[in-house]
Amino acid sequence: MGKDKEFFPEWYHKTAPENSYRSIFRWGYPHLFKHPNKRLYRLLKQVFAMTDDDFQKPSDLGEEIVSFNVPVNLSSQQLDNLRLIAGKENVRTDDYSRLRAAYGKMIYDLMRLRKKMVENLPDAVVCPRDKADVRSLVRYCHLQKIPVTAYGGCSSVMRGTECPRGGISLDMQAHMNRIIALNIQNQTVTVEPGILGPDLEDALNGAPKLFGTKLRYTCGHLPQSFHSSTAGGWIVTRGAGQNSTYFYRQDGNAGIPGISGRCYQQYQAGRRRAQPPPRHRQDAGTLV
Ligand SMILES: Cc1cc2nc3c(=O)[nH]c(=O)nc-3n(C[C@H](O)[C@H](O)[C@H](O)COP(=O)(O)OP(=O)(O)OC[C@H]3O[C@@H](n4cnc5c(N)ncnc54)[C@H](O)[C@@H]3O)c2cc1C
Repeated sequence: MGKDKEFFPEWYHKTAPENSYRSIFRWGYPHLFKHPNKRLYRLLKQVFAMTDDDFQKPSDLGEEIVSFNVPVNLSSQQLDNLRLIAGKENVRTDDYSRLRAAYGKMIYDLMRLRKKMVENLPDAVVCPRDKADVRSLVRYCHLQKIPVTAYGGCSSVMRGTECPRGGISLDMQAHMNRIIALNIQNQTVTVEPGILGPDLEDALNGAPKLFGTKLRYTCGHLPQSFHSSTAGGWIVTRGAGQNSTYFYRQDGNAGIPGISGRCYQQYQAGRRRAQPPPRHRQDAGTLV
């Protein structure tokens, strides 16, 4: 068959419905698409011994609204106490929030979501507003023997956001995403752990406007998951990325089992310039 007559799939590019399985595995970008080109399509068929027939009809699109029957194993008293600590609106027990908190963005996460395989969920998702909330939540859960897991961007890879023993999952991104200070003297920026890569980088690039500095800055850390990962996640996983090996050094103790009380991280905010900036340093912040 001539290449112009070659079959090419009609890739799916509808916006993922809100609260659907698909909206979780679309990386939080329901309107963006990047489909394989023709060469990649041919390669896929060749490597996986597939034919055009396999691509005629899309399957397992995950458009359904997330819904399952997994009970919440926290008493109403415990839930009330969590609400007292973090605020009523910051404690969620709906199916969507619980599933979204537990799954990462690796291929086995995407495949399980497409097949609607639901496992290792937290009983509730709690969104701390600040360091004091984290402290009180951890203290309360310790007394009540409720497991605590934290998540940032939920890009994951090693399934660290899953909750095999239930408990609560702390959503660090919801509120704890602020920049605390930029110190141009020693070139460090202090942030809350839930700040996403692009938000941190935009703020550093826009430092003259935001902080009244003469120069613009960069954090110099660009993992491939940059758009969907947080400063807290980078530190806990001791992340690396393009340029990071050259520009960036990671220090500090990341040995935090499951939950961190750490609430602020410091990054060397290198200047933006043609020459390589000084090596970047990422320090673990204060343990609560
Ligand atoms: C497609 C893809 C590409 C990737 N590319 C790279 C790459 O180039 N370089 C790289 O290093 N990694 C990469 N990763 C892995 C992952 O993105 C990184 O490990 C990232 O640093 C995780 O950050 P996050 O905010 O998404 O953390 P999450 O996935 O939310 O959490 C990861 C772990 O950290 C814990 N955690 C998160 N925040 C906190 C907190 N505030 N306190 C305590 N514990 C916390 C969680 O409990 C979990 O164990 C990639 C992942 C994917 C899916």
